[in-house]
Amino acid sequence: MERLQKVIAHSGLTSRRKAEDMITAGRVTVNGETVTELGTKVTSSDVVMVDGKPIKKEENVYYVLYKPRNVISTTDDELDRETVLNYIQTEKRIYPVGRLDFDTSGVLLLTNDGDLTNLLIHPSHDLEKEYEVTVKGFLRKEESRTLCRGIELDGTKTKKAKIKDVTYNTNKEISHCTIIITEGRNHQVKRMFESVGHPVLSLKRVRFGPITLKHLRVGEYRRITPHEIKQLRHQAKH
Ligand code: URA
Repeated sequence: MERLQKVIAHSGLTSRRKAEDMITAGRVTVNGETVTELGTKVTSSDVVMVDGKPIKKEENVYYVLYKPRNVISTTDDELDRETVLNYIQTEKRIYPVGRLDFDTSGVLLLTNDGDLTNLLIHPSHDLEKEYEVTVKGFLRKEESRTLCRGIELDGTKTKKAKIKDVTYNTNKEISHCTIIITEGRNHQVKRMFESVGHPVLSLKRVRFGPITLKHLRVGEYRRITPHEIKQLRHQAKH
């Protein structure tokens, strides 16, 4: 869902300010009905017309970025830190699909497709996210099992997770593993390991549904293929 004036501005027809004037002047229809309310929200399936002519839809673009550590994944930052948008060359107004923490690296999707974004970040969709984690201390089997079964976070239990490829450094002060979760709660992986007494030392997302870091180096990005977009939609719906 996006604000009507933004959708008109993104079509390239005019600025957002002028789009607002067009709306209040009664020149804009949504699905055949005149809309004069500025807050009105529309989806990409709504038919928007200005002066009886349908507006051009901005072409949707889809990227995967290998997000470096120490980059913020919002589109602008009060502290003027570097954002993920600095890494992608496009004229389109893209934004990240969900977030990775400042100090987390790995797979980050960016797009201007609001409908796909909503589908992918909706909590009811069990899209797998896979993370390589390094934690403090010796991660015991029983602790892994506890995390996989689900632990209480913010009053609700986390969904079933999978943990694999557990290894340790020589003096067992540090453990590495891969965890697969299907939710995207705030700082979820860090909070899960913290709850069993193992603070996360480093975190990298290596997969988001079907999308991996294959052929990408830190800071590089590529377009997501139409086939991958189909797979994303499919996996999010099941
Ligand atoms: N879980 C976290 O704790 N941080 C992230 O960036 C992603 C998942």
